[in-house]
Amino acid sequence: MLPVVERFIKYAKIHTQSDRETGLNPSTPGQLEFAYLLCDEMREIGMENVSVDENGYVMGFVPSNMERESVSIGFIAHMDTSPDMSGKHVKPQIIEKYTGVDILLSKEKGYTLSPDDFPELMNYVGSDLIVTDGNTLLGADDKAGIAEILTAMEYLIQHPEVKHGTIAVCFTPDEEIGEGPDHFDLKKFGAKFAYTLDGGEVGELEYENFNAAMVRLVFKGRNFHPGYAKNKMVNSMKVAYEFISSLPKREVPELTSGYEGFFHLYSIKGTVEETTVEILIRDFDRENFEWRKGVIENGVRDFSRKYELPILLELKDQYANMREKLEPLHYIVDIAKQAMNELEIKPLIVPIRGGTNGSRLSFMGLPTPNLSNGAHNSHGRYEYIPVSSMIKVVNLLVRISELCTKI
Ligand SMILES: [Zn+2]
Repeated sequence: MLPVVERFIKYAKIHTQSDRETGLNPSTPGQLEFAYLLCDEMREIGMENVSVDENGYVMGFVPSNMERESVSIGFIAHMDTSPDMSGKHVKPQIIEKYTGVDILLSKEKGYTLSPDDFPELMNYVGSDLIVTDGNTLLGADDKAGIAEILTAMEYLIQHPEVKHGTIAVCFTPDEEIGEGPDHFDLKKFGAKFAYTLDGGEVGELEYENFNAAMVRLVFKGRNFHPGYAKNKMVNSMKVAYEFISSLPKREVPELTSGYEGFFHLYSIKGTVEETTVEILIRDFDRENFEWRKGVIENGVRDFSRKYELPILLELKDQYANMREKLEPLHYIVDIAKQAMNELEIKPLIVPIRGGTNGSRLSFMGLPTPNLSNGAHNSHGRYEYIPVSSMIKVVNLLVRISELCTKI
């Protein structure tokens, strides 16, 4: 078995699902167990200064093999699996030389991974595929990323003729519950920039994500006995409804894609006296994003004037488009593209209609675009990864490490 596959299968069997409710760092004990196992492996392949910190972050380094100074880069992946689907007792199955037919994942339950539902499976005819047994997710998101990074690091250590600067590696806990970068020790990591390896078809390269804000509005009403309310009652639920209806009708998640932004009515809870509304604002463009916030602010002013009642407004920025941090350092993306072109991987540049670990890290001072790890259908029983994609990603990481010496 190829080392990258062997590693991945071993990691997939460890239960590392994260959990929003525990309040612990890392959120579940399985992640810590996995962290220690990774540390042992990193030392075994010859990585240096390997450690797990008190929050479960694993770090290790491949020292530079250059005579002159070269820029230090980083690779990052996450150890947890999604809370959306069980990650316990994962039993990966290898389908050798896929022929393009339906794959029966579970005989008892009849779950089938079929090109009718997932036509991109046909791109992998001839490759070995790793699939689930239908009862759990696979956890290729993001254990494939970890297996690929360590296999690439092992290759670099065993091939001193391939020149590279210092390479920092970090495996974070709790990415799936939005806490990936919370305790990331940038100083210890020391890289000038990094790449996350997370999810998606091989070749995906992501350096743009939404600007995001959360709006909370509390509409006040005036309540009277409904029998005697004429010209006196103001029903806060109706004011809230009118407010929501005043927002651009087509700019909602269900009618937008690509680079289009939106207002997303996220929750509404009300009585005649008081209605609380939560709206998510998302936009790639900074100016449009500010304009959207202005729409809300102006609405609050107009509606409270119209009904002569206060509307409380809370507006909180959540995350920002990392493009503004990466644009001035475009060579970070260009190197990845060049490496892909050389390896005949087609770069697929897609905007992320959400946030990522990399966007938070970019704003914390570590510019970090995302490279995919080759996994498909993350977070569910139909998750799979082609072995051919894993091999490509390993080669990509080696080539990127090499190209970065030319900066
Ligand atoms: Zn992921």
